[in-house]
Amino acid sequence: MGRFSTAEAVEREPGLTARRRLVIVGSGASGMLAAVSARLAARGLGIPDADLRIVLLERNPRPGAKIAISGGGHCNVTHEGAVDRLLEKGFLRKNELRFVKPSIYAFTNADLLGLLARYGVPTAAREDGRVFPVSGFARDVLDAMQRMLREASAELVTGCRVDGLEVSGDRFLLRAGEARFEADAVILGAGGSAWGSSGTTGDGVRLASSVGHAVATVLPALAPVFFAQSPDPGLVGVTLRGVGLVAESGKESDMRRGDILVSHRGISGPACLSLSRSVAAMMAAGNGAPTLFADFFPGHDEPSVAAFVLDHASRNGSQLAKSFLQRCPMAPARLGPGARESGLGVMTIPNAFVPEIMRRAGITEGQTLSVMTRQQRRELVSVLKRFELGKARKVPLDKAEVSAGGVSLSEIDPKTMESRLHRRLYCCGELLDYAGEVGGFNLQAAFSTGWAAGRSAALALFVRPSAGA
Ligand SMILES: Cc1cc2nc3c(=O)[nH]c(=O)nc-3n(C[C@H](O)[C@H](O)[C@H](O)COP(=O)(O)OP(=O)(O)OC[C@H]3O[C@@H](n4cnc5c(N)ncnc54)[C@H](O)[C@@H]3O)c2cc1C
Repeated sequence: MGRFSTAEAVEREPGLTARRRLVIVGSGASGMLAAVSARLAARGLGIPDADLRIVLLERNPRPGAKIAISGGGHCNVTHEGAVDRLLEKGFLRKNELRFVKPSIYAFTNADLLGLLARYGVPTAAREDGRVFPVSGFARDVLDAMQRMLREASAELVTGCRVDGLEVSGDRFLLRAGEARFEADAVILGAGGSAWGSSGTTGDGVRLASSVGHAVATVLPALAPVFFAQSPDPGLVGVTLRGVGLVAESGKESDMRRGDILVSHRGISGPACLSLSRSVAAMMAAGNGAPTLFADFFPGHDEPSVAAFVLDHASRNGSQLAKSFLQRCPMAPARLGPGARESGLGVMTIPNAFVPEIMRRAGITEGQTLSVMTRQQRRELVSVLKRFELGKARKVPLDKAEVSAGGVSLSEIDPKTMESRLHRRLYCCGELLDYAGEVGGFNLQAAFSTGWAAGRSAALALFVRPSAGA
């Protein structure tokens, strides 16, 4: 981390010891670490701080607004485990995984946690692999990063919204209202387009696009889904645990497994957050509003569920269908006899859902299993496998934790974050066309891509590869 391996065999470029200025747009996770890594790289080359000015331009009155609110104020900084496992869990799309891989290997979760520990922020992993500061305060992470910035002698200009970028040879001009900033290298770390109230309204993507970068359509990700019709008030606040969540629109469909929370306007919860990007993409494709279904028996096909229901009914004919459903295991791992009745520790279908399941299957209140018709059993299985939750009306970008889409990955070098269109222009963090899952993956990607950008910028300003390197 932050050192030069011999393989890089770099040498100081003659005549490049004059003062250089690196301007970073945005002081969020990626921008702040870009400043820190640029300084460490420059110092590693023996460049005096005075010869590299590092200036962060931040539109908000304070840096790191999103870090402060992340993880519900607790800041899920990263995910534990080996990097290959982290990448697999966190980045479901292969091209995005390939893109973030070199930077995350170069600045890993262990590097990040080591850095935070050196700045007095010990961290701990929860059972699900998410890593948080031990104190539980996102503020501690942000304070540590601000101390890092100060030690890096980075200049922070707040209340400065960059609204223009011009490239002329290998010089840059940034505009922020009346203010002008010249730079020898620029790092765009202005974040994505989600949760605009924190200062991220897509400016970074627009700045990159203004100098010729292709941009993939920006879409909300890790967001709730609002329905055309509000859910039944009796279901609001109820959680379905471990179920399948399916979105379908025309021939398109996608699914996730996990918890779903019914809200006043639609659904939320981990499975919904993960699937929301696909829902938004289906809506953007214009093939009609996707319908969302819950599958109470994910991993078991209809014939297996039908056999399970029939077997149970044949042994418990006098049981009310309602009682069966109230004790029916939800998302069981297997459908053997052990899954028939709920026991301690077995999740069951929430009572609030039972009347609606019965209504949709055409089963009446006092009906016992023995008098259920074959048609009713068939309907019941179909409802349990495809319980329609609602039709999507909106996936709100302002309530999304991240945005997908952004600066096209094919125009950015994944090792250095340098633009393939303009030398010494770098893009990092969420403004790039990737989106990680919930679990600390987005902050890790922002930290790692920021780290790569800062280090590469310092190298580009003060060294050139030696012949043959
Ligand atoms: C509510 C919420 C909770 C989250 N929780 C987590 C979590 O626990 N774990 C996790 O991994 N991820 C989480 N995320 C996502 C994560 O915070 C982001 O992916 C990450 O912060 C992106 O880093 P970034 O540096 O690219 O952008 P940001 O951290 O968003 O920083 C961009 C900065 O650029 C500034 N800026 C924007 N435009 C301009 C401009 N024109 N001029 C100057 N400055 C500008 C912004 O004000 C901002 O300070 C959460 C997001 C939200 C909204």
